Amino acid sequence: MDINPRAHLHADIRRSVRELCRDFDSAYWQKLDETAAYPDAFVAALTQAGWLSALIPEAYGGGELSLVEASVVLEEINRSGANSGACHAQMYIMGTLLRHGSDEQKQRYLPAIARGELRLQSFAVTEPTTGTDTTSTRTLAERDGDRYLITGQKVWISRMQHTDLMLLLARTTPAAECKKKTDGLSIFLVEVPQGAATADAAERSGLTIRPIRNLVHHETNEVFFDHFPVPATNLIGAEGQGMRYILDGMNAERILIAAECIGDGYWFIDKARRYATDRRVFNRPIGQNQGVQFPIARAYANVMAADLMRYEAAALFDNQKPCGAAANTAKLLAADASWEAANVCLQTHGGFGFAAEFDVERKFRETKLYQVAPISTNLILSYLAEHVLELPRSF
Ligand SMILES: Cc1cc2nc3c(=O)[nH]c(=O)nc-3n(C[C@H](O)[C@H](O)[C@H](O)COP(=O)(O)OP(=O)(O)OC[C@H]3O[C@@H](n4cnc5c(N)ncnc54)[C@H](O)[C@@H]3O)c2cc1C
Repeated sequence: MDINPRAHLHADIRRSVRELCRDFDSAYWQKLDETAAYPDAFVAALTQAGWLSALIPEAYGGGELSLVEASVVLEEINRSGANSGACHAQMYIMGTLLRHGSDEQKQRYLPAIARGELRLQSFAVTEPTTGTDTTSTRTLAERDGDRYLITGQKVWISRMQHTDLMLLLARTTPAAECKKKTDGLSIFLVEVPQGAATADAAERSGLTIRPIRNLVHHETNEVFFDHFPVPATNLIGAEGQGMRYILDGMNAERILIAAECIGDGYWFIDKARRYATDRRVFNRPIGQNQGVQFPIARAYANVMAADLMRYEAAALFDNQKPCGAAANTAKLLAADASWEAANVCLQTHGGFGFAAEFDVERKFRETKLYQVAPISTNLILSYLAEHVLELPRSF
């Protein structure tokens, strides 16, 4: 039985992704969690199968899938018990290069990414002192002949040890000289020097990477730039327009992340219902008690409702209709639904929910991240309040 009422949609994609994920079982993910290792084999298999270049146009060797289809890929990864966080950025940051990159940049990078020879896995926006207030970005990119020199610091920059390219947001005009606070920021496609995580390489290149140990065993880092050179030809689009390009890509990101949450949500519900059926206490399955059933049923209803919103948002996106409100709502509802499902699943498992071998505590930690990254729940509420409901602006 498949508890997803929309499992018939894009069934071929679901089947292929599920088959691939079957080779990476719960023991595989637990081992990585234990050893804080990156899922190299899993990401290589997804790359080889072409799923990570799903959104690259066929003209550049990609799969040219719609956003709905791409979202199904990520949903099924998470539904299988795996974690898309190891590689999802390649899908959602691709749009910036696709929409705003020059023909030369696209010819140079996209076919190699589609062939799996180059990885575009890192997106450097967040800074320690500015946090969610992206327009206050301080990292500087100063023009120096035919290159820019980058100086500053980023934090929580994921997958730096497993990428060849990084999209970087940096300030090219001091904030005081900008008319609007969204002006003066630019996007660069940065080639990450091989071995940049080592001290030697950092000294040579001006790029230092320091891993951050964290709740979810998610490969993420502090990144320090010290006059780190980037060729001027790697500026994406027009100088000073970077914030606009980032905002432009956010709807796709929100929808893809919503789909991951939906995958998690169904995984938790399925796990909870199976355990509630098998586990016997007081001579009956615990799931026979409505006190156990109802929270599972409610969480299921919320996952299904969020899933509908995700399809609505993705369809608007694919039809090039305004989708900011729908995409943000989908992300909000899906993240809340997966977190509710995670809590219910853990509670249903009682003490065993805390045991690593059941996987519930790992997925519980992983799905919590969606409340904060890539965008925190409050910031979505703020978007809906101000931009949709036209309530007074708060910042
Ligand atoms: C594991 C992990 C991986 C990440 N990967 C990346 C990455 O690859 N690239 C990248 O650029 N970033 C990444 N991030 C950063 C992530 O996007 C930020 O953590 C997130 O956007 C929140 O920013 P912050 O942590 O600075 O929180 P802050 O901005 O300091 O906010 C803290 C809390 O206050 C709330 N808050 C702040 N201002 C307001 C307000 N005006 N109204 C109401 N509430 C408010 C926020 O919602 C949040 O809950 C990652 C983070 C984590 C934890």
